Amino acid sequence: MDTQTKYIFITGGVVSSLGKGIISASIGKLLQARGYNVTIQKFDPYINIDPGTLNPYEHGECYVTMDGMETDLDLGHYERFTGIHTTRHNSITTGRIYKTVIDRERRGDYLGKTIQVVPHITDEIKRRMLRSDEPDEHLDFVITEVGGTIGDIESAPFMEAIRQLRWQLGHNAVNVHLTYVPYLKAAEEMKTKPTQHSVKELQGMGIQPDILVLRTERHLDDSMRMKVASFCNVDLDCVILCEDMPSIYEVPVSMLTQGLDAAILRKTGLPVGDTLAMQSWFEFLEMQHHATREIHIGLVGKYDLQDAYKSIRESLNLAGIYNDVRAKLHFINSEQITRDNVAKQLQGMAGIIICPGFGQRGTEGKIIAAEYTRTHDIPTFGICLGMQMMVIEFARNVLGYPDANSSEMDPTTPHNVIDIMEEQKTITEKGGTMRLGAYPCALREGSRSYEAYCRQQSVMERHRHRYEFNNAYRDAYEQQGMQCVGVNPKADLVEIVEVPSCRWYIGTQFHPEYSSTVLHPHPLFMSFMKACVAKMD
Ligand code: GLN
Repeated sequence: MDTQTKYIFITGGVVSSLGKGIISASIGKLLQARGYNVTIQKFDPYINIDPGTLNPYEHGECYVTMDGMETDLDLGHYERFTGIHTTRHNSITTGRIYKTVIDRERRGDYLGKTIQVVPHITDEIKRRMLRSDEPDEHLDFVITEVGGTIGDIESAPFMEAIRQLRWQLGHNAVNVHLTYVPYLKAAEEMKTKPTQHSVKELQGMGIQPDILVLRTERHLDDSMRMKVASFCNVDLDCVILCEDMPSIYEVPVSMLTQGLDAAILRKTGLPVGDTLAMQSWFEFLEMQHHATREIHIGLVGKYDLQDAYKSIRESLNLAGIYNDVRAKLHFINSEQITRDNVAKQLQGMAGIIICPGFGQRGTEGKIIAAEYTRTHDIPTFGICLGMQMMVIEFARNVLGYPDANSSEMDPTTPHNVIDIMEEQKTITEKGGTMRLGAYPCALREGSRSYEAYCRQQSVMERHRHRYEFNNAYRDAYEQQGMQCVGVNPKADLVEIVEVPSCRWYIGTQFHPEYSSTVLHPHPLFMSFMKACVAKMD
């Protein structure tokens, strides 16, 4: 069998937000199910080195890989769908490409040449698309999703790199182009013209798409598919429909039924085979159909935007399905929570998530919510900043330090129960300088977290923070009923706190949401959801 790595390039046209990430993840899932080794990477055309410095209002949540790269939220889809661990090589931006080239130029590596977009920038893009920094990887498929929309000035160098690679790689490269087919209500018609234009634009850049995935809100009949196929020079069985689905986890099955994976394998000359390891995925979908009883979970945070807490939302949805309930998530703006209205704001919730975040805005509302749920025994899960707010609340209302705070919010507080980490004190640059990525966490036997993790002694979890639990107060917390049950064994940093007298009141300094996948929902989310279901009943 042909063992050469194959490259799939996913581009998008007409409009943004078509769900290229879900299509890329679905293709990855299907090829994996056919026994192929895959990775999925995202190339974003913006100048930021990574999305770590971006406000979540710009591109949604920042997803963190095991090796500590701050990346685009699509990498979360890749990991949730395929279960693979992505790395810093799976998330590239124009900024990183330029930085590499400019650093090289400053070192004199180009020996006096004029440095240009073509070939220097495009060569660097190609090098990364081919994953030249990972020579030891043995991959059957590299799926590369390019952010943005065809025709954007900023994505032109990426398109040129793809054009060159397709020429160079021949049948080992495939382009899957995603477009949108709108429905015109007045004409009562689906319109394929934008798709034709977008393909023309792609062809103008020298790229002929092999496969078209048409996003639609309504069914497109075969005659329309035929029209698209003949106008765009694409085989009829390579015009795939992607209608709106009740759940993103149905998408791989729809792609499978239409033969998207088979088309890719045919184009790249690989056997399609008939063994398909999708059984557990089908069982998951079965469970999803069955889980109809609604449970209401409140997300106390400051970003009123679906994508800002993407991985938390998905982790809750998944944990719900495995607990046979459908999680209805309610965003509760912490800036609007006051002592007087907290009962009303949290009314009807079977459980509360206190969300991660940065900066002062909305933190007092999170503290009020944490107090309310602790004293009313509502299952509560605090994540990163959320955990820190639980700790501050406990100091103010149980330890008796009404001025307790994090030095992030009040640098002069006399009771800095959350303090800047020692190694962070001298750091001045903002990008990529937090405590990032996976670190071990030793669990205390007998704790609720230990039980949730099925009695593992130690786990690895991903981090993204500058501040930490202040160990000077540890004894006081332990004596007064907040236990530090997860600790980094080397640095002695507190990673998990819990209040055992409540039914489920746990805060984690790390982000468990990054490691929850469709087939392996995270144990803490599972345990939290179980407690919420018990509370609801
Ligand atoms: N702002 C807090 C810190 O830096 C929490 C960060 C987060 O929630 N990811 O420690």
